[in-house]
Amino acid sequence: MAEEAIKKEDLSINDQWEEVCSQLQMEFGHTAFDSWLKPLSVISFNDGVMHIGAPTAFMKNWVITHYSERIQRIWERKNPEVKSVQIVVQNMSSDDSLIKHIKQTPTPQKIYGVANSFGNTDSLASKLNPAYTFENFVVGKTNEFAYAAAHKVAESKNISFNPLFLYSGVGLGKTHLMHAVAQYIKAANPERTVVYISAEQFLYKFVNALRYKDTDAFKEQFRSVDVLMIDDVQFLANKTKTQDEFFYTFNSLIESGKQIILSADKSPNDLDGIEGRLKSRLNSGLVADIMPADYELRLGILRKKSEQLGITLPDNVADFLAQKISSSIRELEGSLKRIAAHSLLLPGHEISLDMTQDVLKDMLRSIDRKTTIDEIQKKVAEYFNISVKEMQSSRRARNVARPRQIAMYLAKQLTSRSLPEIGRKFDRDHTTVMHAVRKVEELVLEDTSMAENVDTLRRALEC
Ligand code: ADP
Ligand code: MG
Repeated sequence: MAEEAIKKEDLSINDQWEEVCSQLQMEFGHTAFDSWLKPLSVISFNDGVMHIGAPTAFMKNWVITHYSERIQRIWERKNPEVKSVQIVVQNMSSDDSLIKHIKQTPTPQKIYGVANSFGNTDSLASKLNPAYTFENFVVGKTNEFAYAAAHKVAESKNISFNPLFLYSGVGLGKTHLMHAVAQYIKAANPERTVVYISAEQFLYKFVNALRYKDTDAFKEQFRSVDVLMIDDVQFLANKTKTQDEFFYTFNSLIESGKQIILSADKSPNDLDGIEGRLKSRLNSGLVADIMPADYELRLGILRKKSEQLGITLPDNVADFLAQKISSSIRELEGSLKRIAAHSLLLPGHEISLDMTQDVLKDMLRSIDRKTTIDEIQKKVAEYFNISVKEMQSSRRARNVARPRQIAMYLAKQLTSRSLPEIGRKFDRDHTTVMHAVRKVEELVLEDTSMAENVDTLRRALEC
């Protein structure tokens, strides 16, 4: 009997895990899911603690920093008995599970439709988005230099600038341009081998190669390409071993006359956690930035995208969106898609300014209040009569520690900053922030005056 009960319990926990996984896959996308979450498995569930096994210590740490909080949240919602999620390294069978994972992971779609002489480079490439072409890229003052540089690299048979280093804030077109180069070369010179890969994937593959003592093959694969593109290299920050490997691959490709294109969220000089010699290598070709799109370009992009979506955007709506949504083109595009979906799916919902404001009200509200962590620290410190310095200090006295936890909680709630980012602002690590968030969540439920304080502060910060 008892045994049967346990089995039933196991079954339902595994079912829950599957549901949690599909949610994670939706939120983080296929690439991240396949790399980091798919290899995890449930080990046990005791006294409210869910133990999840990761195949390596590296993966365990990665999952803890990037995903475990979210896993816990999703699970808690499905099953309130789950009070905490612990990621641990799983021994023995874990090797099997990683090997199985690697075997099962489908080979990403290869960049070249035409067979190339390096069959094995196919497995290196990440997927390309067919919509990310030069034709679909709207050029304006803020991105014309990066566009021209990328186009030049794509069309020249000879090396023009090496490496080409693109940088910008998020959602401003770096990935789009890199895919455009790959697709341009694919069409014009099918015999050239192009590999586009995110730095995250590069790292993952490198770690696997190390694990299976297969680094020679890993190096060979990269060295046999004509054009290598690595997206979001800021991701390699503080990964010294991977940086070394990258550095050697990089040098050997450049020496043998191969083109390299890289992107990051900052200029080489401003990249934190990247070794000096690598920085200077990154600087040695052409560095091109993309600035936030100006009004003109935002309007141009709205026009082009509405044409592609087959909708007519009234001038006042285009003006409204171009004025309001200024931070990223991804957001601009997202808002347009939402409006388009509403007007196409709900007959009678003509696109108008009223309708736009209604459909986008959540998004607009969050744009209207871009609360920063600095502001939160200032307001919360003021409210509790302490200084911001004290809040960031190591003091643990309750009258300082509690406001600090509340500020961390509000930072998590009101900004899109990650736990490590919030932690840095308080000179703490992410686990302290995670603990603070949980603590405040509990306190708000137990203690009405605490709930009122948090609520007052939230409202003060939101307006
Ligand atoms: P990044 O890699 O810099 O974060 P992406 O290349 O992913 O940004 O761009 C985000 C979205 O905005 C993509 O859908 C992309 O097609 C679109 N986009 C960015 N810049 C432009 C542009 N100049 N013209 C058309 N679409 C653009
Ligand atoms: Mg990108």
